[in-house]
Amino acid sequence: MKVIVITGGPCAGKTSALTCVRERFEQAGVPAYIVPEAATDLILEGVAPWTCSSVLDFQTRVIALQLERESAVAEEAKKAERDAGEPVIVCDRGVFDSGAYLTDEEFSQALAGNGLDRIHALSRYDAVFHLESVAKDDASAYTRQNNDARFENAAEAADADERGLRAWALHPSVHVIGNFASFEEKVDALCTEIGKELGIPELVFHRHTPILVSACLLGEPCRYDGASVPCSAVQALAESRKLVPVCPEQLGGLPTPRTPSEIQLDGRVVDRTGDDRTAAFVAGAHKALSIAREQGCKQAILKSRSPSCGVHQVYDGAFSGALVPGRGVAAACLADAGIELFDELDVS
Ligand code: SF4
Repeated sequence: MKVIVITGGPCAGKTSALTCVRERFEQAGVPAYIVPEAATDLILEGVAPWTCSSVLDFQTRVIALQLERESAVAEEAKKAERDAGEPVIVCDRGVFDSGAYLTDEEFSQALAGNGLDRIHALSRYDAVFHLESVAKDDASAYTRQNNDARFENAAEAADADERGLRAWALHPSVHVIGNFASFEEKVDALCTEIGKELGIPELVFHRHTPILVSACLLGEPCRYDGASVPCSAVQALAESRKLVPVCPEQLGGLPTPRTPSEIQLDGRVVDRTGDDRTAAFVAGAHKALSIAREQGCKQAILKSRSPSCGVHQVYDGAFSGALVPGRGVAAACLADAGIELFDELDVS
């Protein structure tokens, strides 16, 4: 059973993101259990930093409630585990969030008051995902209206965000999700990080932006020998994602079928007869990038080992069948432009 924390500054979209994450786990067939946030519930029940004897007192109570809830949810998840598969427990904040409001010494006291130390508290969670408050990028977008327990102004919210991040600094797997043009993109970025961390491909690929794909993986007969190399895992993604097929070599003006080419040690692309095809490969790479930009693609799934599309390895340039680490011409161009690349084998 994996336990992750989704946390963040005030007005980071955490509550709405949790709903989306739960849905995405369901769609992926992964049982997910949510541990509700303790601090907000306590404040809404009238137990707040300003009603307790001290902030330390309040945060000690927050940690106590958090631990109680985590244990109760873990017990439920364990009971269902045999029937439903390995569950994921998603905590809406974790005990280290209390550290953002306390000195180091006070936080140690709050943990000790709950029978914990930092090492054991950290080991409760496999990974932490911190959503940045909108206040960090755009104070005018910050609001208190959608949360009755929120009391900070925009500057205080940005500061609380920083303190929250610092409070988790000792955890070995903290992922920071920044702000995007739309909330949907922020959720996509969060799900991608969770999917990569937990090894769940269904979560890795964006729902709200199209994915660029090597056309041959979708069954287009565009390979050098006139064949296609359909990949069932990539084809299956078409049911839930918008895929944008491209063949950089065809886009560069090369015919199909064509003589196979390989990248040379000096960076030129030469076909088996010795003709230099570099210009066509570069032109095709730029056209593929233009299409990716026009369509708003931020991720690409590309064909393994191709001199255009290879993500991790390419052939060594001697037409010997040997592979070397490296990228195809189009793959390198897309990666330089900030597009996140996946090899077809990363998906299968
Ligand atoms: S250039 Fe890319 S998309 Fe075109 S056939 Fe080769 S691997 Fe497939």
